[in-house]
Amino acid sequence: MDMDKLVSLCKRRGFLFQSSEIYGGLNGFWDYGPLGVELKRNIKEAWWQDMVRGHDELSTPAGAPEAYEMTGLDCTIIMHPQVWKVSGHYDLFCDMMVDCKETKKRYRFDQLRGRWVVAKGKRVFITTLAEAEQETEDLEKRALKAFNLRGKDAASLSWEEKSMSLDQVDDLANVFAPEAKEIGTLTEPREFNLMFKTIVGAMGTEEDAAFLRPETAQGIFVNFKNVLDSTRVKVPFGIAQIGKSFRNEITPRNFTFRSREFEQMEIEFFCHPNASRKWYEYWRDRRMKWYTDLGLAGERLVMREHAADELSHYSVGTADIEYAFPFLPEGEFGELEGIAHRGDFDLRSHMEGKLVKNAEGCLEVEMIPVEGKPDKLRPKHRGSGRDLTYRDEVTNEKFVPHVIEPSSGADRATLAFLCEAYHEDQAPDENGELQTRVVMRFHPRIAPIKAAVFPLVKKDGLPEIAQEIYRKLKAKFSAFYDEKGAVGRRYRRQDEAGTPYCITVDGQTLTDGTVTIRDRDTLEQWRVKVADVVEEISKRVM
Ligand code: ATP
Repeated sequence: MDMDKLVSLCKRRGFLFQSSEIYGGLNGFWDYGPLGVELKRNIKEAWWQDMVRGHDELSTPAGAPEAYEMTGLDCTIIMHPQVWKVSGHYDLFCDMMVDCKETKKRYRFDQLRGRWVVAKGKRVFITTLAEAEQETEDLEKRALKAFNLRGKDAASLSWEEKSMSLDQVDDLANVFAPEAKEIGTLTEPREFNLMFKTIVGAMGTEEDAAFLRPETAQGIFVNFKNVLDSTRVKVPFGIAQIGKSFRNEITPRNFTFRSREFEQMEIEFFCHPNASRKWYEYWRDRRMKWYTDLGLAGERLVMREHAADELSHYSVGTADIEYAFPFLPEGEFGELEGIAHRGDFDLRSHMEGKLVKNAEGCLEVEMIPVEGKPDKLRPKHRGSGRDLTYRDEVTNEKFVPHVIEPSSGADRATLAFLCEAYHEDQAPDENGELQTRVVMRFHPRIAPIKAAVFPLVKKDGLPEIAQEIYRKLKAKFSAFYDEKGAVGRRYRRQDEAGTPYCITVDGQTLTDGTVTIRDRDTLEQWRVKVADVVEEISKRVM
């Protein structure tokens, strides 16, 4: 699939726009247009319905060790700053950066792989000088391209070039100076925290500094006790949340894939430590199935279990669900969702303070010397001191539940569904001649518009009948009414919007009270009674 075509369709039909576009856009920020907002909302609603509201806590789902309960939360974006100190984000959620003094090239430390990588452009791991030289050459070419972008006619730019704001062009041009040849002397490493800082209150002092959350998960952990006390949920149970997160990514790119403001759909699932491995496997498979059920299938969707040395220090298992986005090189996949076994790390941190692994590999509170008394130690970041343990009413056992965290991105899911849906095929026009048509084959559950209604002509009472049908459909789900232009063109517009069904009111409607329903994918048409239209469409799209 050609990414250029998808990006242009997204803009043309109102799925996605660059944020603040009339001012040249802001790198890493995107707006959803009229069709995009419906698509993303449907994806979030499908997730909430399948994971939370529609979940049957009385029966054991396939693959689950036992029945469990699910509930939801909606927490604030700005939280007490101590949350991020204790969670590790304040100290660790940063990229280490160094600059090469000679070449001005910037490197970022990839904590997962323990190597310096080029901070901009594609991830390249520098291990030898020869590799660095090769990489420098590639970057030079890109820098030159960036220079050349300025003054170029917009129509001649590729989608990648278009999505690059002028700021980024300047950045690229500065960092990858064309004379760069090899890694030289490096500046002292410095940290670049990915959290956006803000000020709460009027004083504006450093003490009032707070952060925009980089993940929604922490809101769930700090409310664990509130949920237990206000509901009658029992372990095992899950708490779900959908909401905005913010990360000051060094390299926002690939359309909405890596944005600085994005939405997450996260579950924290609390279970007994002995059962946590089974729950981890259940959630890993359940989440994979959710994507395939909604239409992401085949070789483009993969599950990747992390190797032991890739795991976060607290995790005994993590899997990523990845999708072969068309903007990635052949054979590469991008993360849609991570499913992590987090042990008791989070609840214990919020009780005791920021945890680190000791020499034996066990978690303990990180201690630092007290100022002025170097032989005395104190916790680096104190926890809440609240008791976040759980007591099993039947066995009376007291324990800190283990956590399985399926953490997905609503924007990355939306982008994957957009990529998967894009198709070009041949369909006959009004004269029966085959023409290339663009069709977005969304699963009906997530399609922005479920049905469109057209009167064939604007006379003989056809619009009135069509409008009546439209109003009835609209009362149940998103529907669209269109009476302008040739009916063939109206069909094409709906194909591009991904509308699964089009209903046409024609001359025959006046005689036998039936209308035509057309299927977006098969182009099959059949007639149903006007009175049966709502039921016919409902059973297919809900
Ligand atoms: P990546 O390695 O791609 O930066 P991550 O491992 O940091 O992702 P997590 O912290 O596990 O991501 O976040 C969970 C999910 O949130 C990701 O799987 C992704 O869907 C979404 N997400 C994370 N960062 C971004 C971003 N910058 N833009 C859009 N979605 C994001």
